[in-house]
Amino acid sequence: MYIFHTIIELNNFLIREKTNGNTIGFVPTMGALHEGHMSLIQEAKRNNNIVVASIFVNPTQFNNASDLTNYPKTIDQDILKLETNQCDVLFLPDVAEMYPNGMDTLPHYNLGPIEEKLEGQFRPGHFQGVAIIVHKLLNAVQPHNLYMGQKDYQQCLIVKELIDRNGIDTQLHIVPIKRAADGLALSSRNMRLTEGERQLANLLYQCLVSIQAQNGNKPFAVVQKECWDILERKGITPEYILLCNADTLDTIEEYDSHQPMIVLIAAYLGEIRLIDNLVI
Ligand code: AMP
Repeated sequence: MYIFHTIIELNNFLIREKTNGNTIGFVPTMGALHEGHMSLIQEAKRNNNIVVASIFVNPTQFNNASDLTNYPKTIDQDILKLETNQCDVLFLPDVAEMYPNGMDTLPHYNLGPIEEKLEGQFRPGHFQGVAIIVHKLLNAVQPHNLYMGQKDYQQCLIVKELIDRNGIDTQLHIVPIKRAADGLALSSRNMRLTEGERQLANLLYQCLVSIQAQNGNKPFAVVQKECWDILERKGITPEYILLCNADTLDTIEEYDSHQPMIVLIAAYLGEIRLIDNLVI
């Protein structure tokens, strides 16, 4: 696997590959890689000649300083995992490479109404940071195909907006959520859970499953409250448990089979904030 730290080195390599007619699949990550990330690499590998992964913990998308400071870093294991999965290129820039003019003056992206909902409401500015870095990375890689995880469903919709509104010639592919055996969505932040918290963390998924199962049986508000109470009783603090239109992320008050539905959850276990979702 080639490891490039600068955009110029990456470009030199990719221009050659594109000239030779090779397709490029791109998987942006923040490292601390797990099997969820690897499922993106494998999907990219199946459908492209060259797979580029990036690892960059993007400061501008963190609205919480300690979350940024404590974000897990496991670069040696990450490189091994990428090599095992036959990733062709790792782009591993530092902050100065991605933000050569510093982070004081940043562009503003118009991302439409989805930006303000859910994660946007609880993590103000988060999606501006995501848009800034994804646009920079897409400019650097100019991939034919981009692979992102349904785990960050709202992020996928935001990146779709970014691509459409800026006329970027890249196809976005959304890869299903990879889960642990007990249902917990794999996440780099899971590494920071205590053993006790880890035992309870699959309750988020259990809530999603019960909300899915009660479709047509109980009013959504009742199931939502049951889930909220179960989590709180176990010491988990939910931020939201919402049924939404899967295209617009508008909140839906009641199960409605005439709309594409998704249920999304965010909750704190101690200091760790986890998110998950399930299409209904
Ligand atoms: P991150 O490193 O958390 O920024 O994630 C990098 C990419 O991996 C994003 O597109 C995530 O949505 C995706 N991802 C994270 N966790 C999972 C998972 N459990 N299953 C599938 N994709 C995931």
